[in-house]
Amino acid sequence: MPILTVDPTDPSHDAHLLQAANALRAGRLVAFPTETVYGLGAAATSDAAVARVFQAKGRPAHNPLIVHVADLAGARAVAAFDERATVVAQACWPGPLTLVLPRAAGAPVSALATAGLATVAVRVPAHPVARDLLAAALLPLVAPSANPSGRVSPTTAAHVVAELGGAVDLVLDGGPCAVGVESSVLDLSRGRPLLLRPGGLDAARLERLVGPLA
Ligand code: AMP
Ligand code: MG
Repeated sequence: MPILTVDPTDPSHDAHLLQAANALRAGRLVAFPTETVYGLGAAATSDAAVARVFQAKGRPAHNPLIVHVADLAGARAVAAFDERATVVAQACWPGPLTLVLPRAAGAPVSALATAGLATVAVRVPAHPVARDLLAAALLPLVAPSANPSGRVSPTTAAHVVAELGGAVDLVLDGGPCAVGVESSVLDLSRGRPLLLRPGGLDAARLERLVGPLA
């Protein structure tokens, strides 16, 4: 499987990045760096592409995936934001925070990605390669860590190849990830905010925004 290098300091017009965006639009699996770890990217809009992600990782179908988008406008197409969610998103994105919110009506997201739930987990990543890839693909992307379920998350392109081999169609090599902590997952889909997973975003900062976390 091809490994294409991309300069993480200036990826926006990189030919390899555009090639990766086209591959994603064609339903291929593309591993790419985020500020946490390398993600196994696929079009969140496509049942077939999302199914391949679950298959490649050996991930149980009942464990939903995070949908990555380029910005808050992209997130609004996918999830229903109330005032509280908007405040949190504006304060913390781009960054290592995933919000669980009600699915937006007509959200262009495969039901496989959300495991059939009425909610969706959404995030705007901060890594320049991830951001520019999302902007070029013009699609929401699922991007769980690019490793078989239960294995350590990859922080380099070589690590992705060693872990997933031929299950991935293309690896975008933007250099090593800054040692990866996963995104914090905050559920704002009900009354009381619930921290489903602690991660890269400081919980105290979230509490200053939304009050005590359950
Ligand atoms: P990962 O396993 O690192 O890809 O992280 C995805 C995390 O987000 C898992 O803990 C999922 O259970 C959680 N998640 C994704 N979608 C939802 C959702 N709709 N509701 C609650 N948790 C979710
Ligand atoms: Mg993982």
